[in-house]
Amino acid sequence: MRRSHNSIGSKMTFTIVGVSSLFALLTIMVQLWWNYHSALDNAVADIDRYTRSLLPSMSHALWDVDQPLLKDLVSGVGVLPSVSGLELSSRDGVYLNLGQGVPVDPGHRYLLLHYPLSIQEQAIAELTVALDRQQIYLQLGREVMVIVLGNGLKMLLVIYIILTLANRLIVRRVEALANFADGINLSELTKLRLDPKVAESRDEIGLVAQAFSRMYQRMRHDYALVRRQQRALTRHQQELSQTVEERTARLRWQTDANRQLAQISLGFLNVSVDDIASLLAQVVRQIGELLQVERVSVVEFEDDRLHYRAFWSCIPNAQSADEQLTDVARLKRRFTNNSMIIIEDVESISGRWPEEYRELSSLGIRGIAGFAIMDGDALVGVLALAQVSGHLEWNDDKSQLLTQFAATLNALLIRRRREGQMLLLQRQLLRANARLAKQAATDELTGLVNRRPFSKRLEQALGTEALLLMMDVDFFKHYNDSYGHPAGDEVLRRLAQALKQALPEDALLARIGGEEFAAVCPGQAPEVCRQLPQRLLDAVRELNIPHGASPHGRVSLSLGVVNLLGVDSVRDAMGRADACLYRAKALGRNRAEWEEN
Ligand code: GH3
Ligand code: MG
Ligand code: MG
Repeated sequence: MRRSHNSIGSKMTFTIVGVSSLFALLTIMVQLWWNYHSALDNAVADIDRYTRSLLPSMSHALWDVDQPLLKDLVSGVGVLPSVSGLELSSRDGVYLNLGQGVPVDPGHRYLLLHYPLSIQEQAIAELTVALDRQQIYLQLGREVMVIVLGNGLKMLLVIYIILTLANRLIVRRVEALANFADGINLSELTKLRLDPKVAESRDEIGLVAQAFSRMYQRMRHDYALVRRQQRALTRHQQELSQTVEERTARLRWQTDANRQLAQISLGFLNVSVDDIASLLAQVVRQIGELLQVERVSVVEFEDDRLHYRAFWSCIPNAQSADEQLTDVARLKRRFTNNSMIIIEDVESISGRWPEEYRELSSLGIRGIAGFAIMDGDALVGVLALAQVSGHLEWNDDKSQLLTQFAATLNALLIRRRREGQMLLLQRQLLRANARLAKQAATDELTGLVNRRPFSKRLEQALGTEALLLMMDVDFFKHYNDSYGHPAGDEVLRRLAQALKQALPEDALLARIGGEEFAAVCPGQAPEVCRQLPQRLLDAVRELNIPHGASPHGRVSLSLGVVNLLGVDSVRDAMGRADACLYRAKALGRNRAEWEEN
């Protein structure tokens, strides 16, 4: 610490030097005053004592008029120190004046001492001695140097001692204290130490130093407390802002998730049953990505079997555990009392559910969340989210979201199931209808179409280069009569087959009555057309079915043939063909008759 003129040291030095000088001055002055008065008193006493001892001799010398003796005696007084002069005057007129004599006006410089001389108690003269104070002053002047020097040295010694002591006891310690106070910087971690010498003494500075030290300890303690509180506050603030961020992210996630769920639900509402599978595939991917899991699957229980309705995994080529999860009954049991089962770490169930643990471990699943898909009280399926590379990160928001989603999914699966059942029924119905329609249009015995579809086809062919062929088995009543009805049926079947084979592929053959057939044959080459009736007759002949009651000896046909080009109604066509057939019958049967143009 730099000392300035304002420092205690300087002030003390000035004060001590000033006060000491003043005291020294006062001491010198008092001493001089005292010495002066002592010297004056001593001089007066000396003069008095000496003079009074000589007075009787002087009186006798004066009485005896012994002038020389008187002079000697008076001179003896005159040589006394400080005596500047004297005067003797008698009544008889004797007058003696020695030295400078006695001044008329003594002023302050001279002190006059008067001594009466008497003989037999009768005053005869008076001796006046003049004491010169200046002599005493001069003598004092000689002593002044010694006094000043002595007092000065004494003063300097005292000042030195006082200052040294003050320096040691006060200034240095105060400076150390000031340095200590200056050095207090709470932001620095190094601990300041006060010089023990400053504080060890139990004087005021020691007490102040101890107080300072204690104050420093308190400040450090308080500052540490403040720092701790600040750190706690900062930590708290960080935690708070982290919480706010987390909550915001959570809210954002929830909003986003809810929006997606709403979209998915809407999608579920609008989806047609046929698109459910593809929608589910898309939705499980969405759920997987939203919840950041590695696998999502929707399984449905049907006839105590597990069906994977949808499966998604972010891992390429991942397989659903379709075949591995066989114990459906156990899985169902697990979900009987729990609408959801969350296993963040599969290891945690190794003791509780050893079978599930083994099964999940064998599938490589390390964390899984399962949500029951319920239809009323019945468990219809499970929505499962699984993690294979690590544990499942889970929270209540996800549970809540997926519980809702499982409910939506439930509605979809039920709808899918119901609509599937409905569709199945519809299909069965359609198939039955088709079968019935086919049955209605088909002749049961021969498998040929019957009259209705045939008429339709005939209608389409009206006005075209198509042939209508009307055929009737000859003497069939007799055949039945001769060989029996079942044999007649067999004949009808064989005839139908033979005729079908003989007709062109695009021709339509129908059984339009008991033993009557008809065919529409679309436009053919004229050659084919011309030969067609004969081909049919030949085909029947080639069957060579014996018919004893027929003049032809075997089963035969009669044909009526009409070209449809000029015909505009089914009824007309049939009538005309029937007429031709009638003519063939009339002309002996086993033949074909064309409509004459
Ligand atoms: P025509 O040469 O004049 O045609 O003599 P037809 O005996 O064949 O004619 P008719 O009209 O008198 O007799 C038709 C017979 O065909 C009567 C019936 O017994 C027989 N018939 C009709 N439908 C069936 C059938 O589905 N199965 C059998 N086995 N016979 C049938
Ligand atoms: Mg007939
Ligand atoms: Mg017949």
